Amino acid sequence: MKTYAEMTTELERATAQNDRLTAALRTARSQIVDLKADLERIGDPPNTYATFLRRAEGTTVDVLHQGRRLRVATAAQIDLDALTPGTELRLNEGLAVVEVVPGTDAGNVVSVVEALPDSRVLVAVAPDDIRVLRRAGTLTEEPLHPGDSVLVDLRAQLVRERIDRAEITDLVLEQVPDTSFDRIGGLSTQIETIRDAVELPFLQQDLYRTYGLRPPKGVLLYGPPGCGKTMIAQAVAHELVLRSAQVRGVGVAEALEHSAFLNVKGPELLNKYVGESERGIRLVFERAREKASANHPVVIFFDEMEALFRTRGTGLSSDVETTIVPQLLAEIDGVEGLDNVIVIGASNREDMIDPAILRPGRLDVKIRVQRPDEAAGREILGLYLDAQVPLRGDREALLDRAVARIYDTAASSAFVRIEFSDGSAETLHFRDFVSGATLRNIVDRAKKNAVKEQLATGEVGVTAAHLDDAISAEFAENEDLPSAAHPEEWARISGRRGRRIESVVPLLGLAAEQSR
Ligand code: ADP
Repeated sequence: MKTYAEMTTELERATAQNDRLTAALRTARSQIVDLKADLERIGDPPNTYATFLRRAEGTTVDVLHQGRRLRVATAAQIDLDALTPGTELRLNEGLAVVEVVPGTDAGNVVSVVEALPDSRVLVAVAPDDIRVLRRAGTLTEEPLHPGDSVLVDLRAQLVRERIDRAEITDLVLEQVPDTSFDRIGGLSTQIETIRDAVELPFLQQDLYRTYGLRPPKGVLLYGPPGCGKTMIAQAVAHELVLRSAQVRGVGVAEALEHSAFLNVKGPELLNKYVGESERGIRLVFERAREKASANHPVVIFFDEMEALFRTRGTGLSSDVETTIVPQLLAEIDGVEGLDNVIVIGASNREDMIDPAILRPGRLDVKIRVQRPDEAAGREILGLYLDAQVPLRGDREALLDRAVARIYDTAASSAFVRIEFSDGSAETLHFRDFVSGATLRNIVDRAKKNAVKEQLATGEVGVTAAHLDDAISAEFAENEDLPSAAHPEEWARISGRRGRRIESVVPLLGLAAEQSR
């Protein structure tokens, strides 16, 4: 038996402990109150998100949740009939579906390989990684074509959205330029050839058909850069618009609005659409057909064509060419709707273009656009130094003088000496590198000199001295070329292909150094 005293001490101890507990409880309670306030501030407890896959038994559904498939319950307010594969769902802490939320609009973009007749789609995630995905509910009706870009959710194995990347055609679609043939100097033979090849068959399609003639699909313009290939293509488009407006009896403004000049720059298309240039090309032709559907002319101009359509199997541009060339051939050979579309290719490396593209029925008209010779050079200079430009001195005399200097063959104006491996050598002058673009630059420089002088002294007009300075400046700018370029590049520039070059000696540069 415990004594009274013992019981009293025990009770006192118990009371003390009770007090401590009460205090502890009070602290705990106030902490809970604090926490609750905290929680209220933060809002709902953390929820997670999942992707709807399919309905299951009763009101349960199968979802993809953090990479795993889960069967979960749904809250009463969820309309199960409205759920389609790909719908995003919010789950509560108990992992029950409590809300339908707007889907994500980000993810991976891949290309469609094939849309299967059921709701499945083959896509290429990487060149050797083809996956089978399902269409999200939002995409069941949409036609998907090989090469289309689609937004996919690889974890949910869903194709969510077709991405229209219109910028491919935005990149190339241009109004028909306001370039006419009379703004091109020194290329009358070439212009005649291309007009013969393109205009008559184009404007007289019915007659051509009657006689069973096949109009050409395209033309290749080849030759050194800056010599007028783009200008010719633009002028062809311009002329076709004017003449077809005439033939069809529509106004020029209307014809212009419906026609198009699609300017495809080879390297740009390659770089911008790495791995999907075929798609780019397909879109370009699609756009051209669409534009041409109402009988309006459309020119597709492929600049630096060799970048896109290199000879297959040369290994020069990895595997790119193995798919792009067939794509272009398929487009050109495609019968439907190319009637009003003319393809014009330009290249300064025509030797690198896949020969299949140049066969009959394709780009079978080939026109060489060479560097301007003396007469052509004079004509081009005259186009820019025309009758509107204020001159000090006789126009013909100014032109003669400029031409004489630019086309000078004296040793003093030698530019570079090429030594061949067989011991022979050849001296090239500025004239061997002259292009329409250089001639225009020269005139522009002279005009700027004249403007400056007029501002400084009040004296009006371009003088022989302005032209001289401009020519010297243009010469000097090209002096860097010899050292910068590769010998093979020189062989090409100079048109001496096929001979081994031993060395390239810059002459103007040396002269300048010696005189220093
Ligand atoms: P390419 O397509 O052969 O590289 P471009 O036609 O683009 O050359 O020419 C570049 C520029 O040089 C033209 O915009 C024009 O100003 C000038 N040019 C070139 N060739 C000629 C020419 N034959 N007549 C008049 N201007 C020319």
